Amino acid sequence: MKKLLLLIVITLLLSPIVKAQPGKTQITKWQYGRNGAVSITWDDGSINQFKVALPILNKLQLPATFFIITGQIPGSQYHGKFIGRPIKDIIKETATIPTNKDNFFERASAGGYLGLIGPLDYHYKAGSLVDAGKTEAAYKAIDECYAKVRNGEFKPGIQHNDEYKDAHGTTWAPIKAYAAQGHEFASHMVTHPRLAALDETNLMYEAEKSRLDVLNHLGLAYTFSAEGPFGTENERAVAYLSKVYPALRNRMPEPWLKEISRGNKDTPGNTDKEYVQYQRGATTKTPLPMMKAWVDTTMNRKDTWLVLTHHGVDGIGWEPLPHQELDEYFTYIKNHQDKLWVATFGDVTKYMRERQSAKVQSSFKGDKITVNITHPLSKVFYTIPLTLKTYVPADWKNINAVQGNKKQTLKALTDANGSYVLYQAYANVSPVTLSGS
Ligand SMILES: [Zn+2]
Repeated sequence: MKKLLLLIVITLLLSPIVKAQPGKTQITKWQYGRNGAVSITWDDGSINQFKVALPILNKLQLPATFFIITGQIPGSQYHGKFIGRPIKDIIKETATIPTNKDNFFERASAGGYLGLIGPLDYHYKAGSLVDAGKTEAAYKAIDECYAKVRNGEFKPGIQHNDEYKDAHGTTWAPIKAYAAQGHEFASHMVTHPRLAALDETNLMYEAEKSRLDVLNHLGLAYTFSAEGPFGTENERAVAYLSKVYPALRNRMPEPWLKEISRGNKDTPGNTDKEYVQYQRGATTKTPLPMMKAWVDTTMNRKDTWLVLTHHGVDGIGWEPLPHQELDEYFTYIKNHQDKLWVATFGDVTKYMRERQSAKVQSSFKGDKITVNITHPLSKVFYTIPLTLKTYVPADWKNINAVQGNKKQTLKALTDANGSYVLYQAYANVSPVTLSGS
């Protein structure tokens, strides 16, 4: 009797205690059940991004996201301008009232539009000080700027910032063609200003008018993502931007997301969050092995989204990387695509949000498994397919997954819990039916 009990116990221990029930379904963390995600993003739209880097990406069939400065693209409806009181009234007032919290934003917003060469540099300086939390120093910079204006120390002329000038050469027609190749184009504002130094009216002009030009030239799908210049994390600026764009590379507060910005030396480390956004920006000083190590970290974890922030290419743009290095780096990413989902910034954002808010219901009746997936997110943007993992009966070897008029032919895979299939499914449409033989 004792021996028999022991035998039963050993048998139970050796066989998996709980096999997954056929029909049990989960949404994989990343598309195609991969270990991690990578988004290759480009800021400023400098011309070699399109002439040099984009052909490398196309050769490797890797999609990317380009944040473009819309105001300088020929054919754009909206260009940089100052909206507010007459400039001469603002200048006059600076002679008697020092810059303070009530007049700072107006003065800093007007800085680039005084018809002088020089004050735009003070707009940038003041904005970077606000971004760094140094508001008193920002007020001082604006006082210094307007003192020089009143003393006639600046030459007349129109000044543009470096990013705006470097973006010269792009037009909407090729941008539209690149978008059709699978790349995401998204707003980097009208003129690449320091948003943290702008008043509400001028900040919203930069955000909304840039969106309108993207909308009018490329369509609604490209109004999802945006990047406020200089990676600003200024709370006030980000709050305004998020009224216009559903996804910001600057900040994306979600209870399930740990964010590591490109200025942060942190690594993904240990976290109790579902996902980590790991932003890294290579400069000319970043060794290639370090850039590859970011990719290794991402594919060796299960929860990480590597967001690469690139700027210049082959001498044009900020911190330009040589094309040989970019080619080797992107080839390295391509060679690990079995572990990495390489997708645009917008698509990865959509996938995570859809997965985090989706409900999956499944049933196994007769010889069919039915899986229904729904989420409450806007159908305007959140329509990318999710990868589902559904357990199937052990004797199903070849499986058909049918959703509407889409049919996928699948082979059963196995893990410790039994046989399963991985397949793509859309939420908020008809259920998926799985049948096997
Ligand atoms: Zn930029």
